[in-house]
Amino acid sequence: MASGRVDLDGNPIKPITICMIGAGGFIGSHLCEKLMNETPHRVLAVDVYNDKIKQLLEPSGSGELSWADRIQFHRLNIKNDSRLEGLIKMADLTINLAAICTPADYNTRPLDTIYSNFIDALPVVKYCSENSKRLIHFSTCEVYGKTIGCFLPKDSPLRQDPAYYVLKEDASPCIFGPIEKQRWSYACAKQLIERLIYAEGAENGLEFTIVRPFNWIGPRMDFIPGIDGPSEGVPRVLACFSNNLLRREPLKLVDGGQSQRTFIYIKDAIEAVLLMIENPARANGQIFNVGNPNNEVTVRQLAEMMTQVYSKVSGESSIETPSVDVSSKEFYGEGYDDSDKRIPDMTIINRQLGWNPKTSLWDLLESTLTYQHRTYAEAIKKAISKPVAS
Ligand code: NAD
Ligand code: UDP
Repeated sequence: MASGRVDLDGNPIKPITICMIGAGGFIGSHLCEKLMNETPHRVLAVDVYNDKIKQLLEPSGSGELSWADRIQFHRLNIKNDSRLEGLIKMADLTINLAAICTPADYNTRPLDTIYSNFIDALPVVKYCSENSKRLIHFSTCEVYGKTIGCFLPKDSPLRQDPAYYVLKEDASPCIFGPIEKQRWSYACAKQLIERLIYAEGAENGLEFTIVRPFNWIGPRMDFIPGIDGPSEGVPRVLACFSNNLLRREPLKLVDGGQSQRTFIYIKDAIEAVLLMIENPARANGQIFNVGNPNNEVTVRQLAEMMTQVYSKVSGESSIETPSVDVSSKEFYGEGYDDSDKRIPDMTIINRQLGWNPKTSLWDLLESTLTYQHRTYAEAIKKAISKPVAS
């Protein structure tokens, strides 16, 4: 049970109160679940939505780990709610996950993207600093932008040298495209809030940890368009491809699907966040890459693997043309650009927290697509069979 738990240095872990902003989202829902199931900590869960944590907000029965009295939902928009400071003051630690973080928004809603990722995060940083509260802030691997290697000639042997593509927290530069490529509005806003937090640490002693997630994926990520999100909405790639597979449509490969990503299972990544929460002396003042360097694929390879895995878990054969190419302009509109390759260096998180990811890409897709099929297949069938209103 929860009591008797010790940190990485053998010290007993005391129960704390966590103000989690963005707790109703994909990462927040998994983190709340982990905290309720495996720790004695309390959570003040802040978000405008709570659908993904509903199961935790209902009475949990009795027993030592019962969570009913350990999680409290506060429906508020941090843009304009004076209750925020009070909640941060009540907590020992604030975790800020709130953000607009789907690439389809970066070039089409750049103002909302910049406000959400920079301006709206400012009061959170300020309240933590002024009240001497610890902050874990969620940034992104996208702050690295493009790799140095992508500017080398296509046939340069240096492209094979990790020095030109592995992304290191304390050494790699942040390389963004021109301003008219509004894709980079998100990365740039996240970079500036990282710099501000770092400066609060340096000048005012703020205790902070910055997390840079590298494509965390799993159940409850985003939405399926037309089922639990807008029909015209464009979620991140896992949900886009899941939607295509569920509807038996070809998967759309943006600009040929040549970009490379490393995907990590949400449950592995949450283990890393829990270590940060419970080992402040090792996590404070650090910026951590959290990803799985062993799970690298091109987007095209991801599409092929998801097609195979979905066939296995659904028992349905794949369609004749499983994927089609589409231009980024057609798919995302003007101003889209892309990160070419994202391999996280794991030295710092390994040294500070002894953490390593475990789950292979195939295994994580198998459990995630089993969830997608179980959750959405019936609803999609019904939606497809409905006659279209004339
Ligand atoms: P998500 O969209 O599922 O969750 C974000 C949550 O924040 C949502 O529930 C949303 O309602 C809430 N929110 C946004 N603005 C708010 C506001 N003004 N007031 C109150 N609540 C607000 O996204 P996620 O994947 O869980 O990502 C969480 C964080 O991690 C984000 O900061 C994101 O930039 C970062 N991140 C995630 C990934 C990933 O792989 N999932 C990768 C890079 C960075
Ligand atoms: N992508 C794609 N088809 C889709 C959705 C996304 O080819 O239906 C590509 C996208 O262009 C990018 C990669 O998949 O190269 C990952 O996109 P995601 O939205 O998950 O976020 P990113 O990793 O770029 O932050």
